[in-house]
Amino acid sequence: MEWYDPTTRNLPWKQTGDAYKIWLSEIIMQQTRVEQGTPYYLSFVKQYPTVKKLAAAPLDEVLKLWEGLGYYSRARNLHYAAKQVMTEHKGKFPSTHKEILKLKGIGSYTAAAISSFAYNLPHAVLDGNVFRFLSRVYGIETPVDSTAGKKQFENLATQLLNKKDPALYNQAIMDFGSLVCKPKNPLCTACPFSSHCKALELNKVQLLPVKGKKLIKTERHFHYLVLFDAKHIYIKQREANDIWKGLFEFPMVEEVDSPRATVHSNIFKNMDGVPNRGLWTVDHRLSYRQTLTHQLINGHFYELKTKKLLAANTGYLKISKDSISNYAFPKIVRTYLQDRLNFLS
Ligand code: SF4
Repeated sequence: MEWYDPTTRNLPWKQTGDAYKIWLSEIIMQQTRVEQGTPYYLSFVKQYPTVKKLAAAPLDEVLKLWEGLGYYSRARNLHYAAKQVMTEHKGKFPSTHKEILKLKGIGSYTAAAISSFAYNLPHAVLDGNVFRFLSRVYGIETPVDSTAGKKQFENLATQLLNKKDPALYNQAIMDFGSLVCKPKNPLCTACPFSSHCKALELNKVQLLPVKGKKLIKTERHFHYLVLFDAKHIYIKQREANDIWKGLFEFPMVEEVDSPRATVHSNIFKNMDGVPNRGLWTVDHRLSYRQTLTHQLINGHFYELKTKKLLAANTGYLKISKDSISNYAFPKIVRTYLQDRLNFLS
């Protein structure tokens, strides 16, 4: 706390005591760099200055504003939780850790952050910065993502928390981890803890924190049919409980990739609901990749221009190409669209 200078990292959400805005910032900043997240935070606060406004907004609009941030389940949970605040708390953001934790999408870290920053309640935050800093200073080798590790760090963090000013303490320790005890090249020579840092003493700075689980990524292939005429194009909203629920994409078949798929569109023969079916011979495709936490997505785009698109069957939307920017798409589709906008228009 002595080290901490509130004027550094003077981010917009640090200057508010409004639990709603603090919550917005915490959800947006999870796994997002501050530089990337800040414009989103500002747009959300501008468009939805109150939790009431957010709850009343259509989900599609919220997803569109979130577009590009990834982890779309967070946006859906945000919207759902705003409605919870309206119905279960009469529009007033809950003010106890227990009640905050009941809102959808809020885990113990976010609940601790909101309750300490908005209400100065004594709950210790444990984000990646805090895990790293504590594991190094105390030389803790228990994996931070194990059940035992979480318990151990939680106990330590709670024990260390300054109960008189938890908000300042939490902000200080998070910023310290982010600015001094950084993942790579921490500033050990200038660090006020260097004389009793276990990791430094034992030459283990780069080995801590320990992460146990190795992520196994599933590889998936999405074959997109980009079917359009001079004015229109088909899109479809993702509805299944899967990645990108609620976002839009082109008519799609998920199938393992095969060399045949590169030269022919047989892959779409069984696609129900898309008019003009059976008329296609697609001899080229464009492929893109998107890496998610647990999945590697290959998007293959097969372009087919027809003279006139028939009306779309249930589940598909025939939209004017001019309106395409009104819809929220996953990153892989947006990248494709950016590259091919001239061709499609
Ligand atoms: S001495 Fe280095 S590793 Fe230890 S707490 Fe300070 S910055 Fe982190």
